[in-house]
Amino acid sequence: MKKLAAGNWKMNGSMAALAEVDALIAAHPAPACEMLLCPPTPLIAAMAARAEGSALQVGGQDCHQNSSGAHTGDVSAAMLAEAGASHVILGHSERRADHGESSDLVRQKAEAALAAGLIAVVCLGETEAERDAGATLAVIGAQLDASIPAGSTAATVVIAYEPVWAIGTGRTPTLAQIAEVHGFLRARLAGLIGAEAAGLRLLYGGSVKPSNAAEIFALPEVDGALVGGASLKAADFGAIVAALSAA
Ligand code: PEP
Repeated sequence: MKKLAAGNWKMNGSMAALAEVDALIAAHPAPACEMLLCPPTPLIAAMAARAEGSALQVGGQDCHQNSSGAHTGDVSAAMLAEAGASHVILGHSERRADHGESSDLVRQKAEAALAAGLIAVVCLGETEAERDAGATLAVIGAQLDASIPAGSTAATVVIAYEPVWAIGTGRTPTLAQIAEVHGFLRARLAGLIGAEAAGLRLLYGGSVKPSNAAEIFALPEVDGALVGGASLKAADFGAIVAALSAA
């Protein structure tokens, strides 16, 4: 699998902001890594239309676990796919915290995503209190076990390790801390899905920016990044894509 630079626009952006997509595509017509942007749901179809024929893939930020029904405000995985999405982020810490999403629910959503032909980008991460308590690996391991669907493969699932305290804060773990968690995840995945674990992309997320991307991408078992704030500007995200392409 190619490495993956994924951007999460969160609840940011507008039709006007899609000009950033044009700039990104123009500057990176054929990157050596995969390039994905996940805008708010109302922008997916328009972004996918702008990205058609380019190296840019488009994803959603969440989906419902059911395929249809009385779920006001939610969208199904098939709806995201029909709008042009190829991926969906699931279990982001903001959804786990703001919407009370459990790992069990995240797994159900991932199963729905896979059934609709989407690639599930499943997020895991410890809070600062959990890290301070020495519980990081226990927390991440429990989240991984419960969040990924049976039958996950390198082609259908991506894992993003995102320490909650590093998201949007400008703070990042040490390189040794990132390497420790990624090595742990690779080994734990092997126990869950066997040989598929070797090729499954493990992304780091949390305050990745052009100035720290290269050193993070040089770490073993880091196969890309999930990027929030720095994905909003083509110049910044493009620099991260370039760093990953060179890694
Ligand atoms: C994120 O939202 O997944 C994220 C990593 O945000 P940021 O890059 O802004 O820390």
